Amino acid sequence: MRNGITIRWRAAALALIVCLAAVLPCAGGRANALEISQKNLDSLKSQGEQLASEIKKLTSDIQTAEKNKTNALKIKADLDKKIGLTEDQIELYEAIIAQLEAQIELRQENITETSAQEKETYELFKLRMRRLYEQGQAGYLQVFFGAQSFSDLLSRADVIGTIAEHDARLMARLKELREKIEGEKAAITNEKIEDEEIKAELEQRKVDLEKQYSENESYINRLEGDVGRYREAYEAAEKSQEKIRKDIQTVAAELAKKNVYVGGKFIWPLPSQNNTITSLYGTRWHPILKAYRFHTGIDIAASKGTAIYAVNGGEVVMSDYDSGYGNFVSISHGGGVVTLYAHMTSRAVKKGQIVKQGQVIGYVGSTGLSTGPHLHFEVMIDGKNEDPMKNSVNTYLLKK
Ligand SMILES: [Zn+2]
Repeated sequence: MRNGITIRWRAAALALIVCLAAVLPCAGGRANALEISQKNLDSLKSQGEQLASEIKKLTSDIQTAEKNKTNALKIKADLDKKIGLTEDQIELYEAIIAQLEAQIELRQENITETSAQEKETYELFKLRMRRLYEQGQAGYLQVFFGAQSFSDLLSRADVIGTIAEHDARLMARLKELREKIEGEKAAITNEKIEDEEIKAELEQRKVDLEKQYSENESYINRLEGDVGRYREAYEAAEKSQEKIRKDIQTVAAELAKKNVYVGGKFIWPLPSQNNTITSLYGTRWHPILKAYRFHTGIDIAASKGTAIYAVNGGEVVMSDYDSGYGNFVSISHGGGVVTLYAHMTSRAVKKGQIVKQGQVIGYVGSTGLSTGPHLHFEVMIDGKNEDPMKNSVNTYLLKK
């Protein structure tokens, strides 16, 4: 969209310059206008080159993004697991804390019970003492006067002491028991506090993990957005390529009416050592677009700058730059047989030029919709793409 606006703006500016050049009394006016129109063409081509290089950058960005996305999806799965496990841990600690609470409650009940017994024993002791004292006036006298002997008197006094002693021992035991239970309660309470701290840490960890999870998710969404932008740019370049193919077919159909096929068999379009076909003709899976695309030719591996040969004699119908094909040359061999050579680093022939079989028409490159140097070679017969490796009309044979 931005390119379109820039092109229109530039075209308007150029038109203004052309008008000024025509108005001004200048001897070289026509020559200038031609020069400017050539400049306009060059500018359009550089726009196309810019689009292609943007696609190329996007292609590598997207490949990185795809890798990152794969990683991000792995991280997402890991985070899912971690969050699940953390939740399990939290549940476990909740169960432990509940158990500890039950134990604390039990201890508290025991403490309350023991304290009550302690108090009761003390009350009982006080009551007994008071009664002894109340009976005491008479009781003590009885103890004295009822005594048969001095030793009998002492043993009677002992009874009082024994009662007091028994109560004191009972109270001491109860106190000891209560303190033991209180100790246990304190220990369990400490354990509970520790476990609550662990639980709080786990809950914080879960919050952190969930934050990471949502950050990772928005990262995945961003990467998916990049793929969307890439798809749009790629499809625009594909459309441009398709239009060129139609134009070539129209020109070739016109030429076919006038000319018959030059005859003979095709030669291999590259030096014989460059015989590795990296992509065949036909439907192929596009890993970034995640869709099937029809490959209208074959791709042959070759390093940048390798000479490209005309597979047979003919007339150059197109020698141009396109955002899809990059620098490309198309040759009509007569009789409706056309060949196309794409992604050249540079072209060596012009439109309308007559070429011989084996003549160098350009050099291997990676311009247009291409991710690395190679030759994209297409064959069209009667306006339709044919598999260059399996030619139905058998007018040529590719040697390898
Ligand atoms: Zn190709």
